[in-house]
Order: sequence, then structure tokens, then C-alpha cells
Amino acid sequence: MAKIPSASSLKRQRTNDEDKNASFTWTISDQEVFECGICYEALRIPVYQCRNGHIACDSCRIKLIGRKCPTCRQFFFICRNRAIEKVIELLQVKCNYAPYGCQETMAYSKKHQHEKTCQHSPCFCPCLGCNFAGLSDQLYQHLRTDHNGSLVDFKYDERLNINLNVNEGHHYFREESSGGQYFLDNRRTGELGNIVSIDHIGASKEAEFRYQISVSSKKTVLTFKYTRHGNGLDDDGRIKGYFFMPSELFGSNGRCNLEIYIYK
Ligand SMILES: [Zn+2]
Ligand SMILES: [Zn+2]
Ligand SMILES: [Zn+2]
Ligand SMILES: [Zn+2]
Repeated sequence: MAKIPSASSLKRQRTNDEDKNASFTWTISDQEVFECGICYEALRIPVYQCRNGHIACDSCRIKLIGRKCPTCRQFFFICRNRAIEKVIELLQVKCNYAPYGCQETMAYSKKHQHEKTCQHSPCFCPCLGCNFAGLSDQLYQHLRTDHNGSLVDFKYDERLNINLNVNEGHHYFREESSGGQYFLDNRRTGELGNIVSIDHIGASKEAEFRYQISVSSKKTVLTFKYTRHGNGLDDDGRIKGYFFMPSELFGSNGRCNLEIYIYK
């Protein structure tokens, strides 16, 4: 649970009470004090609190109207916490991706927005059970050397052909001009068929893109069109949109051809 910053959690390293304009260096030992106590997101102005001082961000405050504070079980009494708002306004922080090369320092209130689009945010390997994280180019090398993955270069809005194996896991695509990386996840779901989806790998987690997958057999043509927002997962971490491919679309050799378009 977030706490109101106390004198002990904000340790002032340089003191000059006479000079109000002096800038101080602070060490914050617990960043949780700047997180909403309900959704754990970084606080932004306005910041609210219950009558016992439990902090809530604006969107949680709206959800609590007429309801009880989840911590002290008293009715949520809407009151701004100006002290913490002032601290948030003045606080200068480094980007979380400094270890990956980001040099930027910014107001705490801008940190969340910056990190969503920070070019140094690591790309996580999409393979199940692998913890690799690195810059876009490092991930590309990693997929090629450590996973022996099938890597295909493509262009936005142009056809990409993939030969899919009924049992296969991933295919990786890299867009020729932008370097944007995508992967196709292919999962077998028992005898009925496979679930296929395409997701974006890497920096812009807010990225939105559209894709289309078509597959044809002698009797059937199936086309799936989907617009992917954010990380493409619902609140329980399940994939939101996927293409269900009935088993009969795979030939007797267990393979089929997919026509894919990725649009930006
Ligand atoms: Zn919140
Ligand atoms: Zn409370
Ligand atoms: Zn950054
Ligand atoms: Zn990996």
C-alpha cells in the first residue's frame, strides 16, 4: 500500500534552510510513496486521499464515489493531497530504461508518458519461458541464434507468405524500412485446430497496427482481419484477438500456406 511520504522516507542530503531557492538532492528509498494505493500506477496530479490519508489517483477516485476506501473501509472522503502533488510536480527522475542507454531526466509526472514511447525500452523475447530483454537489434540476433527462429523481412501493406506447420511455435517478421518487429504465435488446441495471432515486439507498447491473415484449401477460404491495440492482452493476460484455424485447413503433410498483410 502506498504511504504519504514521511520525513524518514525522504532523506535530504544537503540542507540550507536559509536559502529557499536552493535545489536539494533527495534520496527516495521507497518509490511506492508515489504510486496510487489502489491501482499501483505512478501518481499524477490531482492526487486524492481518504480521511485517513490513503492515497488514490483520479481514475480510482472516480470509481470510489459512494463507496468505501479499500484500506480502511470508511466511506471515501474526497480530499486533495496538495503536499504530495507539490512533490510530484518538482521531482526530477531518470527514465527506468537508463540501464538500456536512455539519458533523459524528466518531471515525475511526465515519466509514465515518456516510458511508453522511450526508444530505449527493452524488447522482451516472446518465446515462452525465455527471460531475454534487450534493444531491438539485440533481440533480433537473439531470436536468430538462440531460438533458431524463422526470420522474414517484409514491407508494410505488402503480401508476406508463410508456410505454417501444424505443430510449430513462432515466426518472426522484421519490417524492412522501419525495423519494426512482429511475431506470429501458432498454438495447437487439441484436435480441432490452431490459434494464430500476430503481435508487435518491442519499444512502442502502445503501438497500434492492423493485420490480415488468409488461408485457403480446396473447399474453404478464410480471412481474418484484426486491429491490435496496446499489448493485445485482456485484464487476465489472455490474448484478445486470434484467428482460429480448423485442422482441415492443414494438408496431409500438416502444413498450410498463410497470406499475411501487416498495415501501419
Ligand atoms: Zn489508481
Ligand atoms: Zn482509507
Ligand atoms: Zn527513456
Ligand atoms: Zn528468447
